[in-house]
Amino acid sequence: MHIVTAKEMYEADCYAIEKTGMEGKLLMENAGRAAAAKVEERAGKEKRILVMAGGGSNGGDGFVIARNLLINGYRVSVLQLVPDEKITGDAAYHKLLYENTEGAIERWESPGKLEAALKEVDIVIDAMLGIGTKLPLREPFNQAVQILNGTDVFTISIDIPSGVPADEGTADVEGVIADYTIIIEQPKQTAFIVSALPFYGQWEVVKIGIPPQAFQHAAIRLTWGNTETKSSLPNRNKFSHKGSHGKGLLIGGSLEMPGSIALTTRAALRAGAGLITAGTLPQNIPVISAHCSEATYVSLAEAAGKISNQELNTSGYDAVAVGMGMGREETTAQFTRNLITRAEVPVLIDADGLHHVKRHLALLQKRRYPTVLTPHPGEMAMLTGFSVQEITQQPFSIAKQFAINYNVYLVLKGAITIVTDPEGNQWVNTSGNAGLAKGGSGDALSGILLAMMMQNQTMQAALSNGCYIHGMSADQQIAKDHSQQDLLAHDVIDGLASVFRA
Ligand code: ADP
Ligand code: ADP
Ligand code: MG
Repeated sequence: MHIVTAKEMYEADCYAIEKTGMEGKLLMENAGRAAAAKVEERAGKEKRILVMAGGGSNGGDGFVIARNLLINGYRVSVLQLVPDEKITGDAAYHKLLYENTEGAIERWESPGKLEAALKEVDIVIDAMLGIGTKLPLREPFNQAVQILNGTDVFTISIDIPSGVPADEGTADVEGVIADYTIIIEQPKQTAFIVSALPFYGQWEVVKIGIPPQAFQHAAIRLTWGNTETKSSLPNRNKFSHKGSHGKGLLIGGSLEMPGSIALTTRAALRAGAGLITAGTLPQNIPVISAHCSEATYVSLAEAAGKISNQELNTSGYDAVAVGMGMGREETTAQFTRNLITRAEVPVLIDADGLHHVKRHLALLQKRRYPTVLTPHPGEMAMLTGFSVQEITQQPFSIAKQFAINYNVYLVLKGAITIVTDPEGNQWVNTSGNAGLAKGGSGDALSGILLAMMMQNQTMQAALSNGCYIHGMSADQQIAKDHSQQDLLAHDVIDGLASVFRA
């Protein structure tokens, strides 16, 4: 699926209308009819349905839905929020068709009238405002939204919950809190923004006949899920040997934090890496090898419990990951920067390693091999100077700018994880759950990503597949033996078995 801005969606509509000759009325009919079919899947004919219709295209979709439900034997009526003269174009056409089908229309008069109407219905279809909304909401929409949110009537929003913008970047999102949203054609950016997503409730996309070429000029901003992973994840060749699956070097750990590098090592091994070497303090090696007998080790010199600045040869490795559990001492930071500057292989930088490159981002621009950064929003804030709030409100544009500026692959983690390539193309991961909101989940991800980076697939596919597999393992563990409360990074690593089998 494409993830679109309002402008990209309008352009696709225009393309469909101009290039295919489909009239706007027909697209509206397709949208409303597809949405009505979804409503019918969820609601029996005994349900009383109120369609709340605005004046724009969203309201037009509402009239089509109302007519189709009426024809199919539902008890439906429309509450029109704007005066008749405000309903124009395709929406007016479909309003007329609804009226000619003997559909009933009530007009907005007062908040009290809506309150009374809501007591008489089981389902509200919110077709008030779509992607053309300019905030703030004006009367009567602001009142209608407030009243609707104050009831527990099951609410189905069409395309987007009224009042929620399509594009990322709104500080305080306000709008209809839907139980279910029927998205038309392609999901809009805010369906992937954590502050807006709760308004959507569950969501689903319906197609209305716009050809895929209509999105050819839209930014590459796609979802990455099961289909994409299945079709790009390499199979293990019958005649492969350990060298075919990559020799990876993981560097991390300190006296206080031996666990994170242990998790990364184990995750990399479980994710299919051929050979893994962990570079860490000598004291940590027995701890890690107790969990990962398959790995080999490089013992690094210590200064005050941390890895000190020293030369480390990375030739012979296919990829390097650095940063997990290292601490932020200057000598360790210098070590990381030297390593990144000299390594002639793909390098993944996570956790403390990200702190080590803060204020030294220019060295990333000079690298001739792929560099992958995997910050959570807090780390992204540290790297960019944006606040965590700004990053979670506009992750697409901030990630894109950063990846282009510094010539890196950026894995911006969180409840929704976005992979951005150095050209600014973006892929959004669709798996995972809040069981991952725990220390150690990111360490496991780094190991999985490293293993993927060494397998035969593009760097972007490697990163997106790694994120998907990580989240899917957590999802499957929750569905089987675990809960979001008890899930540990270890369980995510153990769950890789069934993810790969599937
Ligand atoms: P460290 O950077 O040492 O790993 P934490 O893991 O404690 O530190 O994260 C630093 C801060 O980053 C957190 O306290 C939190 O405010 C912010 N943060 C991390 N993940 C998220 C997220 N998914 N959404 C918003 N803020 C986050
Ligand atoms: P740590 O450094 O403690 O291991 P990070 O914050 O670096 O943790 O990484 C956390 C991982 O868990 C990331 O991959 C992130 O996408 C995932 N994650 C965290 N919270 C959620 C959530 N609510 N839903 C889905 N995935 C999540
Ligand atoms: Mg982390």
